[in-house]
Amino acid sequence: MSERKVRVRFAPSPTGPLHIGGVRTALFNYLFAKKNGGDFLLRIEDTDQTRYVPGAEAYIIESLKWSGMDIDEGPENPGTCGPYRQSERKEIYHEYALQLVQSGDAYYAFDTPEELDAVRTAHEEKKETFTYNAATRMSMRNSLSMDAAEVEKLLAEGVPAVIRFKMPTDQEVSDTDLIRGKVKFQASLLDDKVLYKADGMPTYHLANVVDDYLMNISHVIRGEEWLPSLPLHILLYEKLGWTSQRPQFAHLPLILKPVGKGKLSKRDGDKLGFPVFPLEWKDPQSGDISRGYREDGYLPEAFVNMLALLGWNPGTEQEIFTMDELCEVFSLERVTKSGARFDPEKTKWFNHQYVSTLDNSKLVELFMPTLLAEGVDVSGLDLERVVGMVKERVNFVNELWEQTSFFFVDPISYDPKVVKKRWKEAVPGYVTEIKEVVAAVDNWNAADIKSAVSDLVNSKEWGFGLIMNALRLAIVGGGFGPDLFDICEIIGKEATLRRLDNAIQNIQR
Ligand code: GLU
Repeated sequence: MSERKVRVRFAPSPTGPLHIGGVRTALFNYLFAKKNGGDFLLRIEDTDQTRYVPGAEAYIIESLKWSGMDIDEGPENPGTCGPYRQSERKEIYHEYALQLVQSGDAYYAFDTPEELDAVRTAHEEKKETFTYNAATRMSMRNSLSMDAAEVEKLLAEGVPAVIRFKMPTDQEVSDTDLIRGKVKFQASLLDDKVLYKADGMPTYHLANVVDDYLMNISHVIRGEEWLPSLPLHILLYEKLGWTSQRPQFAHLPLILKPVGKGKLSKRDGDKLGFPVFPLEWKDPQSGDISRGYREDGYLPEAFVNMLALLGWNPGTEQEIFTMDELCEVFSLERVTKSGARFDPEKTKWFNHQYVSTLDNSKLVELFMPTLLAEGVDVSGLDLERVVGMVKERVNFVNELWEQTSFFFVDPISYDPKVVKKRWKEAVPGYVTEIKEVVAAVDNWNAADIKSAVSDLVNSKEWGFGLIMNALRLAIVGGGFGPDLFDICEIIGKEATLRRLDNAIQNIQR
């Protein structure tokens, strides 16, 4: 291995919200950089102006920040290789396209879109597919098939022309992908891709290779869908004379639908009922809203932990990792070649792991907006103890309210199923007696309340289970919640007695 400083880039196109597959690509780049003491760059690949979507770049940056990835160099914090938006680097690419024309590795093509369509249709009629390549290029209108004087004339007149790569016919292109191992391609099967468009913009291929070179990128880690572009990229490095600075490539496996077949797409979220985007996204044109993990109540730590294990494994049974731990243990060797099945249930499980082990004080902080919105009086309540008592029971912070509302407000209704099962005919009478012993408890704490109630229940032989279920119904309004005597302690004596009274009066069997 060379001494080269590790520099990786995440290079999204701002064509809409970032899909979770994109976030995973960013994450693996980030982890690889941090593991190796390197830099993580963000480069916005916006050369295709027709697909540009306003707000997408800001969305991408916010998604990375929310996920906890610090960008070392990017549009908002440029390093020495800027600008970091390709649309602002426009002038840079032309000279490289020209260099390739001069060396005979690229050529001008004057075929109009209409002419290209006509050739395609003619081929389709013969049940063939048209490819602009060695077999066809001499029958097209380009600087290889036309004489030099005419080419000069057309260029001088400003007739629209693209620059195409002249794919060699006799070359095998091979590389060692860091995930896939040896990969081989026959150049003769590939087409003469456009490198530079008539509108003065480079295409993805040229801009991507030129920028990776100028930004001194050491490793290109990207989705599997870019593997077919690899031979062209390798040839571009070769023809531009940059082979010794060529980055190493790693192509990540696809993220598959929960059924295990087919790529998880942007549309699957709506269809299958879980978010496929990190943050909520409002389509600027239609106004349609797509759900996001953040707004659905996921903690960024859980989201990142889940993504890290989509296609990578630590080689141990460990599943819970902080970002720092991931930065320590991540390696491309442990990224799998085959697709990784997305499991929405497992994603919830991850969130549960994080919510249920979060510091109570942090949880209170996250819960506070809900409490304020509910307009409840929290003064004098030990909120940390409240959330600590129920956090095992929730997957999401936004489920805390339904698990704790009875700490803040008296029940306004009683679960009819529980009433039917637990509020037997004799119960109101028992509860009336219990109320008396509870009222007599001097030192208001769970243990003393419990012993007062138990003593009475035992002496009367009412059955502890029956009484506890009835009391729970009276205090909570249903058949759920943490330890009942703890609840009584927290809500206080006054509220406890009031709720017992209300239950005796209001519960209808
Ligand atoms: N702009 C490409 C994308 O949107 C980047 C692919 C690459 O990383 O080379 O994914």
